[in-house]
Amino acid sequence: MNITIVGTGYVGLVSGVCLANKGHKVTCVDLREDIVNNLNKGIAHIYEKDLESLLNQAITDKCFKATSNLDEALNQSNIVILAVGTPSENGEIDLTQIKIASAQIGHYIKKTNQFLSVVIKSTVIPTTTDTVVKKILEQESGKTLGEFGLGMNPEFLKEGDAIADFINPDRVVIGYEDELTKQYLEKMYSPWDCDKIYVNTRTAEMIKYTNNTLLACLISINNELANVASTLGNIDYNNVIKGVISDKRWSPIIDNNRITPSISAYFTPGAGFGGSCFPKDIQAIRTQGEKLGLNMAVTNAVLDINKKQASRVIDMLDNIEGKKILLLGLAFKPGTDDLRESSAVNIMFQLLLKKACVIVHDPIAIDHAKKQFNNSLIQYTDSWKEEVTKVDTIIIGTNWPEYLELKDIVKDNTTVFDTKRLFSINDIPNVNYLTFGYSKTN
Ligand code: NAD
Repeated sequence: MNITIVGTGYVGLVSGVCLANKGHKVTCVDLREDIVNNLNKGIAHIYEKDLESLLNQAITDKCFKATSNLDEALNQSNIVILAVGTPSENGEIDLTQIKIASAQIGHYIKKTNQFLSVVIKSTVIPTTTDTVVKKILEQESGKTLGEFGLGMNPEFLKEGDAIADFINPDRVVIGYEDELTKQYLEKMYSPWDCDKIYVNTRTAEMIKYTNNTLLACLISINNELANVASTLGNIDYNNVIKGVISDKRWSPIIDNNRITPSISAYFTPGAGFGGSCFPKDIQAIRTQGEKLGLNMAVTNAVLDINKKQASRVIDMLDNIEGKKILLLGLAFKPGTDDLRESSAVNIMFQLLLKKACVIVHDPIAIDHAKKQFNNSLIQYTDSWKEEVTKVDTIIIGTNWPEYLELKDIVKDNTTVFDTKRLFSINDIPNVNYLTFGYSKTN
């Protein structure tokens, strides 16, 4: 199929490259000429494992191109997928990019006789597709639904594993408002042999928010209970989790084998959820519920617990002012260069506010960080190992595997705050090991 994707960020580019990899002809559209030019040369502006090699393969196979000319791309397409940003504005979803892109597409639909299905892949609050987007498309095109198609296909990829998640999804949710769009999406996903869930567009939107909110809820409730454990002392919350997750309802036993669910990662205490999705999505659904007159007590608590979690690092460190602190990792998780809402970035700024001298390393996100946080108070380093013995306090902000080497080079009595539980509590016996969900004494 000929597919246009509008918005070439983490979701748009990964989707485009993977759809091309399955044999579709994909044109990715972005406003930024620099991104477009680089993509056509096979250079990706974001980091994801295997992304650049798949991009180059798709270009060689003549299945992928990028452009800033939307009309030119749409001219050859049956389906246009919107993967533009939906950031948070004062706790509310900001639909500006969706509205602008919808208007541009509506304008194109006005001029053409071709049937085009418009599919929202961006995360949008329930009813956005069948009210806001539909209205803009109808207004701009002068046509009604049926003369163009409308769908909603939420994306569940996880940054750091984005390519693998897109190629091997747990399921594909196909939201549609007309039969042709359903058929187009069925055809687009025909190379995928996974569960496919067919629903209307607002159900598709709600699936995405429910999914993210439940996961965020697990993180916050575990952080709250882990804080109880560490305040009591002499309890390792990771042992608590082992005891809990052994319940068959969490980890079923099949053919005498216990299945360890990946959900257990959401039980591990830490500095709170971050990234480009959870914080903004939980806020957006909370605000939508409140606007509907509903009491969003649980979602409010999830956000509130999360907001306070990173500052526990600062509370647990002594005499920060003037202290040299090595912060290992800035990305919100390993495998990505995304710094959006990263707890490590939050910790870095809290340290600076307390007048610490912060030395920062990240194996992948450092260039983004240098551009984004061009602050003379931040000292960036490319060789973290050289700094390890020069400081008395080290904070692990991102659990990049290479930081496991810390164990062999850290000097005795260093304070190591492991915000990600990269190590077990007795892994580095001669340091003052601090983490979430554990303290030696009360
Ligand atoms: P992003 O900010 O990385 O990328 C958005 C891109 O859209 C930018 O490159 C921007 O230049 C481009 N753009 C904006 N308006 C445009 C227009 N009118 N024409 C052409 N290009 C335009 O965003 P992202 O992280 O890829 O997220 C996109 C959407 O997917 C969001 O709604 C997000 O919530 C959702 N989502 C993200 C993830 C994730 O892990 N990042 C996962 C699932 C869903």
